[in-house]
Amino acid sequence: MNRFVLADCTSVDAALSQLHDGAVVKAGGVDLLDRMKDGIEEPPKLVNIRNIAELRGIHETDHGLTIGPLATLAEISEHPAIRSQYQILSDACGHAATPHIRNMATVGGNLLQRIQCWYYRSADFQCLRKGKDFCFAFGGLNQYHAIMDYGSCPAVAPSSAAVALLGLNSSVELTSAKRGKRTVGIRELYVVPDANPTKFTVIEPDELLTAIVVPRPTPGTRSAYQKYGEKESFDWAIADAGVVLEMDGNVCRRAVITMGAASPVVRRSAQAEAALAGQPITEETARAAGRASVEGALPLSMNAYKVDLFPVAVYRTILLAAGQRDRDPSAAG
Ligand SMILES: Cc1cc2nc3c(=O)[nH]c(=O)nc-3n(C[C@H](O)[C@H](O)[C@H](O)COP(=O)(O)OP(=O)(O)OC[C@H]3O[C@@H](n4cnc5c(N)ncnc54)[C@H](O)[C@@H]3O)c2cc1C
Ligand code: SF4
Repeated sequence: MNRFVLADCTSVDAALSQLHDGAVVKAGGVDLLDRMKDGIEEPPKLVNIRNIAELRGIHETDHGLTIGPLATLAEISEHPAIRSQYQILSDACGHAATPHIRNMATVGGNLLQRIQCWYYRSADFQCLRKGKDFCFAFGGLNQYHAIMDYGSCPAVAPSSAAVALLGLNSSVELTSAKRGKRTVGIRELYVVPDANPTKFTVIEPDELLTAIVVPRPTPGTRSAYQKYGEKESFDWAIADAGVVLEMDGNVCRRAVITMGAASPVVRRSAQAEAALAGQPITEETARAAGRASVEGALPLSMNAYKVDLFPVAVYRTILLAAGQRDRDPSAAG
């Protein structure tokens, strides 16, 4: 790991004033320090935002929730209002990583963590996402990679929180000292690799993520998230699904179905959503939506199993959201 300056900040203004000349933000440090220890990044300065009180907290407002980016995954998963009205978010944050990591990891850092492609994470491989012109995964080990929408880089979206927050139509507030505040939707936060392989999010080097805004679900909304992995805990998803159902009695007026580890950027499945709209939630409609979620999938040489796994994840999560099934004991986390 390189030597670096640590700028410990206790206000947003102080942190913003430090963000220049290659300085990077450190929240919990779980992802950033891994990248530095693995030798894939050598920032000259870390701006520690961990002690900025104004970036903490989970606030209920007239319109929903405003979550400080320093709220930990554990705090979000245990918050009573989130547990009762935004189940998809408490499920996603409560089943990411391990209890230790959830106590340290912030939701802002979770949204902004980098991809886990093992070639990207190794200093020995210089690929497209590090500014070169080659992807090692297409002809190499690609069992954890994308099956949809991948273009030139099939590394998958890693953030469980993003799967939930996209389902809830959330947005983030970004703040810069020079340009002030702007609001960006969760989907728009992420840059697809074909648009710019070395830019992962739209956040500029002088910006901080200062809030996450979650609209209140309409009455009668039910939601859930489930993650499937190689082991019960301790790892990122190989398939995960978020489901938000706006119900009119037994009929689903509107569904939002989100998928994380299917593509480089967290995605909504319009096909799965269409399969549920105006339908009662039953085993049959949930299965049809699951099958629809992988329409158009193009698996790589080693990940065709994901084309079978995602429909199961989506189907079981729909039934969990609808209250027709318990949490899947074979789900991870
Ligand atoms: C074993 C293991 C298993 C895991 N499993 C999962 C899982 O199942 N699901 C999942 O979603 N994640 C998982 N993770 C990832 C983990 O949740 C993230 O690394 C963690 O949430 C990052 O949060 P942090 O606060 O430590 O971020 P940091 O490491 O501090 O920051 C991450 C990135 O975000 C930037 N950043 C952070 N906060 C801000 C801000 N407010 N404004 C601007 N930039 C900012 C940093 O510069 C950095 O680039 C796992 C991690 C491990 C080690
Ligand atoms: S999948 Fe993406 S991150 Fe991984 S080697 Fe290929 S270009 Fe690099």
